[in-house]
Amino acid sequence: MASFSARGLILKRYPLGEKDKLCILFTHTYGKLRVSARGARQSSSKLAGVSEPMVILDAHLHQGTTFQVLAQAEAIETFPVIKTDIVLISYAMFLLELVDRLTEDEDPAPDLYELLVRTLYLLGASRDPASLVLAAQWHVLHLTGYMPRIRECCMCDTRLDATAGLPFYAAHRGGVICHRCADGYRGETLAFTRPLQSVLHAIGDLMTPADWSSFTVEEALKPMLWQLVRSHMKAMTDRDLKTMVFLDALRFDAIGKV
Ligand SMILES: [Zn+2]
Repeated sequence: MASFSARGLILKRYPLGEKDKLCILFTHTYGKLRVSARGARQSSSKLAGVSEPMVILDAHLHQGTTFQVLAQAEAIETFPVIKTDIVLISYAMFLLELVDRLTEDEDPAPDLYELLVRTLYLLGASRDPASLVLAAQWHVLHLTGYMPRIRECCMCDTRLDATAGLPFYAAHRGGVICHRCADGYRGETLAFTRPLQSVLHAIGDLMTPADWSSFTVEEALKPMLWQLVRSHMKAMTDRDLKTMVFLDALRFDAIGKV
């Protein structure tokens, strides 16, 4: 494929050399591509504005020696409403980082692409962006195969609804463990309370982004869900999500707002 066109969303960009950018372009058709945008760090470049995160573009690409080369690009969506609100930007960047972290290059994932783009469109008009993003990220985990196991104990396989004691979420086990296994478990855990179980099962039952845009997570449960997602991601990928650290700081500054 010497030369081809693709529609995609820029997840991230890095400086490359003195004047270029390396963009992580998540395309509908080909999955994630590493694309160099030559000269794009010069403000006079036609590629300067389109080669930024959270821009959907129609790209014309050539096969380069190391990366694909962005020859031409037309911005299709830049999400201006999101970009004027620090809270919305933070949520959007969290979703972009999550997708970047959980996908491999050149592994087509059209369903994940659709989910991400539709969620970004809904985010701009959402009255409860935290609930929307919490629901969306759960489905990102599902589509990428990183969903934690929450219905059976990860250690003894007992169905959790068959046990009376309080189960615990154990990130390094990849999900929940029953109260019996938790007794001797020395790793980090988080109480997997009934309300937490119910809200995650409810989120799992939501079928489309339109469904989760009208879904509301009770305020008291949001910090616990964020904590669960954060520990899960850290255990799965060995690193904290950078955007999650920022979201935490934001919540600390604006309790009740986020
Ligand atoms: Zn168990």
